[in-house]
Amino acid sequence: MISDLIVNISLLMSFTFLWHQLFRKNRLTMNSPIWIKSVDGVLAGLLGIVLMHYSITVNELTILDLRHIPVILVAYYGGFLPTIVSAIVITIGRFFIAVNFSSYVALFMMLMISIGAGFIVRFIRISPWKKWTILLVYSQMIFSIALYIVVDDYSLVLDFAVFHIISTLIGGYLTFYFVNYIRKTSERYYKYKENSQRDSLTGLYNVRSFDRYYNDMISVARTEKETCAICLIDVDHFKQINDTHGHSAGDEVLKQLAKVLTGLTRSGDTLSRNGGEEFSLLLPDCSVEQAKEIATRVREAVYHHSFVLPDKKKIQLTVSIGVSVYNGGKEKHDSMFQQADDALYRAKRNGRNIVCTSGECMI
Ligand code: GH3
Ligand code: MG
Ligand code: MG
Repeated sequence: MISDLIVNISLLMSFTFLWHQLFRKNRLTMNSPIWIKSVDGVLAGLLGIVLMHYSITVNELTILDLRHIPVILVAYYGGFLPTIVSAIVITIGRFFIAVNFSSYVALFMMLMISIGAGFIVRFIRISPWKKWTILLVYSQMIFSIALYIVVDDYSLVLDFAVFHIISTLIGGYLTFYFVNYIRKTSERYYKYKENSQRDSLTGLYNVRSFDRYYNDMISVARTEKETCAICLIDVDHFKQINDTHGHSAGDEVLKQLAKVLTGLTRSGDTLSRNGGEEFSLLLPDCSVEQAKEIATRVREAVYHHSFVLPDKKKIQLTVSIGVSVYNGGKEKHDSMFQQADDALYRAKRNGRNIVCTSGECMI
């Protein structure tokens, strides 16, 4: 019997691990779309069926196992829909094993467990471990009642029943601990990953992401033989804003500027904060004329925007923009960036609040 318990728990762990790996980016939550809830319900049902096949046989009619654990697990994370789906799948699986009195009792047992679990999750607001304990006790109680109904002489299976209750508690707590642990670990992983790609002040891509997107854009332009462009955008006299209004006002201006710039990007363009008060806009599949047009639109939009400081004072500011293009040829891969930087320098020297390419400057 102990080996049955170990087999059941190992199955629960390994199945839930694979399940989690498959759905890492679409984890089951109360707000998941219907298809996720349904698929998770089906998977929980399949796990229940697998568990049924590795069960403790009490007599030729009755089997005991941990099939109720996946049912309450999906109830816990996803509510009514996945738990009902899992109960239906398990019931169908049970009827495939045999159609007899016992399997009809199992049908009602599964429905009772899933509906009850759905209600417990929905209406009882307590700490996770307490809620899980209630789910375990409730589902085990229904399972024990079902066993009592199908076995003529309950005293003969009392040992099994007690063992079953112990198995549910051990298997249930271990599974919940395991699932919580892997969910939290991958949640953190995605959060750290996102943070490492973004600039914390503005939420735009940071310079590390910029490098990646820049190289990607160049290699696509090279293989597709198409033109791409870059705009380097630098705030004019930003130091004065800091000096006059304070560093936190400067930060606020950068945040608002990021919003203005975001509103001007096309889908597929990549906007990054490359550092300080310097931003970049990567424009894939873009001609030099389009790039100049976009840069001019950005310059004008910033020029006409009023930035609101923390003390509610409004200020205006301007940006200078250096533009360069890459035509998919064989020149050195970082020369486009260098050309844009040179063009930005020209814009600064030519009075600021202008857009420059390597050949011309336009107001
Ligand atoms: P220019 O027109 O030549 O670009 O002049 P500028 O004053 O904008 O350029 P400069 O490079 O002299 O100064 C940039 C300033 O940006 C200096 C620095 O203190 C400030 N800065 C850099 N990063 C941040 C930031 O995250 N927040 C704030 N508030 N200021 C920053
Ligand atoms: Mg500047
Ligand atoms: Mg600068």
